[in-house]
Amino acid sequence: MDEQTARREIVAVGKLLYERSYVVSSDGNVSVRLDDDRIVATPTMTCKGRMTEDSLAVTDIEGKPLSDRRASSELDMHLLIYRERPDVKAVCHAHPPHGTAFAVAGLAIDQPILSEVILTLGCVPLAGYGTPSTAELANAMQPLIKHHNALLMANHGAVAYGSDLWQAFDRLETLEHTAKIAILSRALGGSRNLPPDAIEKLINVREKAGYLDEGARCQACGYLHETRMTCPTGDRPAASSHEHHSANGSNKISLTRDELVELLSQAVSGRE
Ligand SMILES: [Zn+2]
Repeated sequence: MDEQTARREIVAVGKLLYERSYVVSSDGNVSVRLDDDRIVATPTMTCKGRMTEDSLAVTDIEGKPLSDRRASSELDMHLLIYRERPDVKAVCHAHPPHGTAFAVAGLAIDQPILSEVILTLGCVPLAGYGTPSTAELANAMQPLIKHHNALLMANHGAVAYGSDLWQAFDRLETLEHTAKIAILSRALGGSRNLPPDAIEKLINVREKAGYLDEGARCQACGYLHETRMTCPTGDRPAASSHEHHSANGSNKISLTRDELVELLSQAVSGRE
């Protein structure tokens, strides 16, 4: 993405975050990955509702400043997500009140209550508490990033990410909306979860439509354990690669080109 468009979108998303009360004061931070080595990020100590395009900071992928503006102190969290997820081009961190209430209560957003959330977001795990801007927080988040598109951070807030900034923002908004509905339904006497077979159908739809890939089945929390679709090591997503899950979880195997050629030539010579 070109830098000018990224700057414009970050300012627009910052306004929305502020107007929707997902942040107050100088809370929250947003970034876009321009290319392999450049990030545009919101500046430190600035209200996200009052940013200008020229107030944003540019850094390299290690966080080293490439402009005279200082990036958010929480940029390390963004850089960690970019390292773990090459497909992610934008990160949105805020403290939306309902989502953050889950994080404060020590709860993940992981009950299968809304069909569209299963389709587009998946469950949102809770990373244990870590001091913001330290390795503590990074260590708590790291195992969860690969298989989720949004996380809660205990006693802190929420972060969502995606292939562009609007997808990251939409995911954050879906997280907040889901948390709000969950809280309201509890006030009405409790929510009713979708049954496992309905969840399986939704997972099939979301993979066919390309909303989420099989990597999102390896979720560390939530409703996938009630279905036949969770991967066998789903409770330890960091311990094994996605390829490994595919091999064990869905009757798929992966071969290198050489292995495939070898297999085919064996099959052909076996027939002769
Ligand atoms: Zn924060």
